[in-house]
Parts: sequence; C-alpha cells; structure tokens
Amino acid sequence: MTNADPQELAKFGDLAHKWWDPESEFRPLHEINPLRLDWIDQLSAIRGKRVVDVGCGGGILAESMARRGADVLGIDLSERPLKVAQLHAMEAGVANLDYRSVSAENLAAEQPGQFDVVTCMEMLEHVPDPASVVKACTDMAKPGGWVFFSTINRNPKAYLFAILGAEYLLKMLPKGTHEFARFIQPAELARWCREAGLDMGQFKGMEYNPITRRYWLSGDTSVNYLLACRKPQST
Ligand code: SAH
Repeated sequence: MTNADPQELAKFGDLAHKWWDPESEFRPLHEINPLRLDWIDQLSAIRGKRVVDVGCGGGILAESMARRGADVLGIDLSERPLKVAQLHAMEAGVANLDYRSVSAENLAAEQPGQFDVVTCMEMLEHVPDPASVVKACTDMAKPGGWVFFSTINRNPKAYLFAILGAEYLLKMLPKGTHEFARFIQPAELARWCREAGLDMGQFKGMEYNPITRRYWLSGDTSVNYLLACRKPQST
C-alpha cells in the first residue's frame, strides 16, 4: 500500500507542463522559492551537502538547491512533473541533480541515514498519512542532519486565506488545489516530528501581501508555515 492519493498525484500531473511558467498556477511556488531557499541554506549550508527533496514536483526548489552547489535527489510519485523536472535540469545544464519516482517510505528503507538535508515542502497536506512521511524523512537524514517541512495551518483564517482567498478571490491557485481537512496544525506536525525522533527547531510563518505580491518570513504561523528540525547526533 503506497501512502499516496491518486487524485492528488493526477492533479499535479495534469498541470505539469506549466510548472516552470512563473505566471501559471505555480506562480506562488516560484515567488516563495528564494525565501525558503535562503532560509534552508542559512541553517544547513547546503553547498556540497547531500540533499533529498521529497515531493519535488517540477523541481523548483530541488534545482535551485543544486544551483547552490548541493548534490540533490528529487523524489515524487507523479510521473509528469518528474519528467518536466528532468527536462528542465537537462536544458539548464544543472549538474548534481537527479530525479526518481519513489515514495519517501521506500527511499527511507533503501537509503536510511544517507542525507545531510531533507526538504519536504508543500507536500504533507496532499498525503493520506503525513506522519508516515515525517517518519520517512527523519529516517533518511544522517545523525545531525536537517529536516525541513512546510505546509498550511488548519483554522478559520487559513481557510479564508489559503482556500477562499487564493483559490476563489485571487485565483492564484486552481479551485480544489487544497482540501481544508488535510491542513496541518503546527502542534500536530511538531508531535509527528517528536514521535519520529527529531529535535524540534524553529517554526517560521510565511505571509503574503496580495497587493504588492510580496512574501516574507515572520513569526505568524497562522496560515503558511515552515519548520526546521534536526536529527539528534545519536538516536
Ligand atoms: N515540493 C514542491 C512541489 C509542491 S506541490 C515545491 O514546493 O515546489 C506538491 C507535490 O507533492 C506534487 O508534485 C505532488 O505530485 C507531490 N505529492 C503528492 N502526494 C505525494 C506522495 N504521496 N508522494 C510523493 N509526492 C507526492
């Protein structure tokens, strides 16, 4: 049994050809990428590090980490985004970058403790059993390695901003991109991380001003947020 929802994978597959169009449905991912990339790099200094990007999609984050000198493996279970990612890396001539269709759980079983940095961004809220992905991400990290997540909080404000605002009013995302019930409260994510054996690091909120189209990191985790954790040196 794979921990994946075929409808979710198909949703991303259907839009895959637009992944690298910065004005498409993927505009928000393009716009937030410099912010999250800098944050990940500041904390974990990715140059020369072995990184796995879980749920990499068309490769916006994975490719940008490889451009910074990391040795990156991107994994996803939706085939078309992976093909788009591969093609884009080839055309851009980015080295140190590979893509594979494999689940987080299977890669964790195959290569436990092999990665200095694990990133899993905007993916947990699309998965039937996110705690299992958190555990797999933890298992893939080396002792002392970093594990990063980002997702969307579950509360009335997040419903208003991430679904009504982004999908219906501003039409930044296609209707049905996100399902409210799958959103994740920071306390839930923190609990899964602790249960997986991670040391809790820092939460950051990610805020957006629709008029200036600017994103920034803050202490406000009420809608979009990120979490940085470390795997203890010895478990
Ligand atoms: N992490 C990327 C893409 C986010 S879009 C970024 O932030 O830029 C969400 C991605 O998660 C899609 O590519 C989708 O195919 C992938 N995904 C959804 N369920 C998955 C699963 N069970 N296993 C692996 N990838 C999954």
